[in-house]
Amino acid sequence: MKRITIAIDGFSSCGKSTLAKQLAHHLHYTYIDSGAMYRAIALYVIENGLVKDGKLDKADLIRVLPGIHIGFKHDDATQRSETWLDGRNVEHRIREMDVNHHVTLVSPIPEVRAKLVQLQQEMGQGGGVVMDGRDIGTVVFPKAEVKFFMTASPEVRAQRRYLELKGRGADITMEEVVSNTARRDLDDTTRAADPLVEAPDAFVIDNTHLTSSEQFDLALGEVVRTIGVVSEA
Ligand code: C5P
Repeated sequence: MKRITIAIDGFSSCGKSTLAKQLAHHLHYTYIDSGAMYRAIALYVIENGLVKDGKLDKADLIRVLPGIHIGFKHDDATQRSETWLDGRNVEHRIREMDVNHHVTLVSPIPEVRAKLVQLQQEMGQGGGVVMDGRDIGTVVFPKAEVKFFMTASPEVRAQRRYLELKGRGADITMEEVVSNTARRDLDDTTRAADPLVEAPDAFVIDNTHLTSSEQFDLALGEVVRTIGVVSEA
């Protein structure tokens, strides 16, 4: 059976990665978290003093960008793919609140996007990939055989994010989560370079009232329909 490309886009905290991991596991595909790559660049600018008084030194970032190495390694113990930045495992560090706050300083920069989009396209060569992000079905893999666009009510999303961060021991308030989620959605939908938009051929999933297994069944049905069509062609 042909190994296709599955693109999942949507707002922050919509359950994209949950669905992407479920599909990848079920189909024996590779899951790629494109947001982790933007987060890794955000961590780089924090750690290397490229942000002063909330302002990013873009020229400096563009200068050092070619030397920044971002990748994923499979951890046999956790059976998960983990994010590496310049030879260091940063999987947990990039989920912290300061990275959430800095990521939309780096994600609008066209040079950053060009580098990461190229890496993502290389990783997805040959299919058998589920990738989630904001521009996967529109820019990274415009010809992906299956595209999902995920959404949920702002209240449900904030609640999920809050519980996830608290579960990791973060010291945050619900207000902080609501404001960061709203800020990132605004930044992601209004930036000039590759903004978050719904691909016209995307299958929309609003999971406000869906359980994760209902959502998975819905998405898998769509994939199976497409793989059927693909294999018949
Ligand atoms: O998906 P996640 O919330 O981890 O993404 C973090 C941030 O990375 C997003 O808010 C967005 O600014 C950026 N991003 C992006 N394009 C992608 C994936 C993520 O701009 N394909």
